[in-house]
Amino acid sequence: MVFNHLDPQLPVIRNMVREFAEKRVEPLARKIDEENTIPQDLLDLLGGMGFTSMRVPEEYGGPGFTLLQTAVAAEELSRISSGVGILATVSGDMVAYPIMEYASADLKEEYLAKLANGGIGAFGLTEPCCGSDAASLTTKAVKEGDEYVISGRKTFITNAVYADFFLVAARTGKLEDKHRGVSLFVVDRSNCIEVSKLDMMGYRGSGTGEILFNECRVPKENRIGREGEGFKIAMMALNEGRIVTASTGLGVAQAAFEDALKYARTRTSMGASLIDHQMVASHIADMSVKLEAIRSLIYMAAWEADQGDSDYIRLASIAKYSAAKWGTDIVRLAMQVHGGFGYSRESRVERLYRDIKMIEIGDGTNEVQKLVITKALTGKIHPFKP
Ligand SMILES: Cc1cc2nc3c(=O)[nH]c(=O)nc-3n(C[C@H](O)[C@H](O)[C@H](O)COP(=O)(O)OP(=O)(O)OC[C@H]3O[C@@H](n4cnc5c(N)ncnc54)[C@H](O)[C@@H]3O)c2cc1C
Repeated sequence: MVFNHLDPQLPVIRNMVREFAEKRVEPLARKIDEENTIPQDLLDLLGGMGFTSMRVPEEYGGPGFTLLQTAVAAEELSRISSGVGILATVSGDMVAYPIMEYASADLKEEYLAKLANGGIGAFGLTEPCCGSDAASLTTKAVKEGDEYVISGRKTFITNAVYADFFLVAARTGKLEDKHRGVSLFVVDRSNCIEVSKLDMMGYRGSGTGEILFNECRVPKENRIGREGEGFKIAMMALNEGRIVTASTGLGVAQAAFEDALKYARTRTSMGASLIDHQMVASHIADMSVKLEAIRSLIYMAAWEADQGDSDYIRLASIAKYSAAKWGTDIVRLAMQVHGGFGYSRESRVERLYRDIKMIEIGDGTNEVQKLVITKALTGKIHPFKP
């Protein structure tokens, strides 16, 4: 693969993560889905391996992965458990990245080190009122002396159950100011925070929850960027996040493809292996094409982002949209190849079928990706540089 030549570390990281995932995560993957929780021992291991701090630079104690390396690690973890894969990418990228890029030296020192030491972060943008329309969010941050007082409700927040701290987008301006009135804060878990776990269809175990911030007081130094810059910074986190979220979907689709190929080669029907029936072979070929197309788009977007190319925002949405559209196709065909067994809870593809739907919704729906792509094509989206 061309990307292995561009980055010789890539196959090394892939092998390391694959070995870890197969050895330490696979025996627990079914339980994680059924019980909708990741055991503390595994959380500790993930932290210890640097998977919850993948983008944190080495100077802060993290592994210092590039975005492309993070995407490959996310793919490999999610090939075994999407819940584990998304937990790692949210903490290790969507939370780590905005701190790395936009926070003060003191915040970097404290929170990047926290992640590197196995701490888990969550990214709180979506609210019950508004997900796609996040610029209308209503959580408030009111300045009182040297502190902000944060009150409001966030929902569908990955890692909410496990997080040691939260990035919270809150309104410091007026509602009419839309995105210009939003700022971003780091908020430690404390008594002012109530988390209710949500029972989601897929990506189970990722600790998705609703969070109530009940007059949480944070020092003004916990703001990332200037007042009113929070929405733009959150969007930059989402741009990166789309690439790694897509990569978790790639891992899910890869697992479905592998299961389907194996089943098609071993199951016989009408005197021949399934794969020797042309229509099944056509399904397998179709899945293989879409899988490689998604992979290429994700790696290309990640590579462009690593090179600092501003067009990566468009490519990130293209990668995410392709992983959603074709990923759902791949897993649907994988279930079709499995017949009745695929539809039973005994099969792995039943879980993957529930999982892949998330990629059409989380980190911006398919519709939102198309909005971003067209905005980028008409020159209306640019990377945010303070
Ligand atoms: C498993 C999971 C994990 C998540 N993790 C996080 C997280 O860690 N942090 C976080 O902040 N959020 C998270 N989310 C929230 C996610 O980003 C939102 O659910 C998503 O952005 C959609 O927002 P919504 O649910 O409010 O749907 P809505 O915005 O209400 O959308 C409903 C439908 O209307 C469509 N729609 C809305 N507006 C438009 C428009 N202008 N044009 C065309 N169509 C439109 C949407 O595409 C969708 O089909 C998570 C969601 C899930 C499912």
